[in-house]
Amino acid sequence: MFSVWEIELLQSLLSIVVNPPLLGATNSWSWRHDSSEIFSVKSAYLMLTSGVVHNGVDSLLARVWKSWAPSKVIVFSWQLLLDRVPTRQNLLRRRVIRDPSGALCAFCGASVEAIDHLFITCGSISLVWYSIFRWLGFHFVSPMSIRGVFQGFLALGLGRKSRLGWLLIWHATVWAIWNSQNDVIFASGTVSVESLVDKVNLSSWKWYLAKNPSSFYEWEVHPILCWSR
Ligand SMILES: [Zn+2]
Repeated sequence: MFSVWEIELLQSLLSIVVNPPLLGATNSWSWRHDSSEIFSVKSAYLMLTSGVVHNGVDSLLARVWKSWAPSKVIVFSWQLLLDRVPTRQNLLRRRVIRDPSGALCAFCGASVEAIDHLFITCGSISLVWYSIFRWLGFHFVSPMSIRGVFQGFLALGLGRKSRLGWLLIWHATVWAIWNSQNDVIFASGTVSVESLVDKVNLSSWKWYLAKNPSSFYEWEVHPILCWSR
């Protein structure tokens, strides 16, 4: 079953697949996005992440995929960078929510729940990023947009393992924030900076551990040393 968000992506793909060029000869299917004109998953992936589809996909997104994080988390990050996750602002745009007052942030209730607010600038969430960077040994002045923060993470990863490490923390953080928003809405939970940072520590370590031996103590004390070995 597809979600609304996935259906839009599918429609973008189908609009290309079902409109083959007229060749003036016997009609046949051809795939315009590979020199062989033969469809492959790889060429479709490259097309979708190269900005050929004009729906906000750009080269930045191609950097999301190669990660130690689980695939469902990576897909979530990808949808987030495209602003295709069901924030309350997006639900209002799609008329799932009719009343604008229902589109306020689940955490603070003071601003519209847009991705940049929910994931970056909301009061308690900005403290989460501050704490994450302090854990990593950095003082980071956060950009005000989700893409800006993502670019910051990409810039800090120098070398293959470092890139994977920083990207892992990015995935774990946005995933924890999103799950906390869901907890607040659906389970009447509350959000605390400490518990969110703890979740990021633990989930990133579990995902890291699946590919690299490391103790939680080492990870909690100095994750950068773990992925620098
Ligand atoms: Zn808020």
